[in-house]
Amino acid sequence: MRILVTNDDGIYSPGLLALAEVAAAFGEVRVVAPDVEQSAMGQAITITRPLHYRATPMGGLEAYRVNGTPADCVVLGTHHWDRVDLVLSGINLGSNLGHEIWHSGTVAAAKQAALLGIPAIAFSALMNGREPEFDLLKPWVGRVLEALLREPRPFLINVNLPAKPKGILWARQSVRRYEGRIVPGTDPMGRAHFWFVAHPDHEPEEGTDRWAVGHNFIALTPLRLDLTDEARLSQAFQLAALAD
Ligand code: MN
Repeated sequence: MRILVTNDDGIYSPGLLALAEVAAAFGEVRVVAPDVEQSAMGQAITITRPLHYRATPMGGLEAYRVNGTPADCVVLGTHHWDRVDLVLSGINLGSNLGHEIWHSGTVAAAKQAALLGIPAIAFSALMNGREPEFDLLKPWVGRVLEALLREPRPFLINVNLPAKPKGILWARQSVRRYEGRIVPGTDPMGRAHFWFVAHPDHEPEEGTDRWAVGHNFIALTPLRLDLTDEARLSQAFQLAALAD
């Protein structure tokens, strides 16, 4: 099995190495990741300048860094390595729960693979002010991979790991409320500047990804590329029928 591994934290992230090491037990691994951090870049692709590879030493694994986004890395990686069976993204330093899925470069890399028809899984680990304990999380990532590889293909799964998992749950995306806010400040030159921050300010609903991770379960959320609002669309058909 050919497994392409990428992330959005950049080629030197300890989370990327942890994921690549776990993946190596499941097949042939190639790492293609951004040369610098690309967090919250979403599914951006680079079209106004050329992209380049550079080989990067990574504990005996074949690895390359690219001057592009996570989505670029998936497109390039699968272009130069045919018949990739699985794309893995992460392990992100920080969760990608609920609305964070919209901004995440980690999840976007998996979505890009799904666009290409390749099964993909995004992994993100909760940060509580310090780096996740990857040695503790790696056996859990292996367990998740083992379980998800039995799923019908193709699949697109968003996986979030708590600091100390006690089990694995399937969970919905939490979408009750958007937590993004702007916090204004002043820079050393006296000019106004602005930080974009996210603060969850409500209790998550039971059965959601945020709830699961908050209760120390690994959350598995199946995603789909079709964003169509089915309920509204069927309503629109009814309205169209009325107009006739
Ligand atoms: Mn990141």
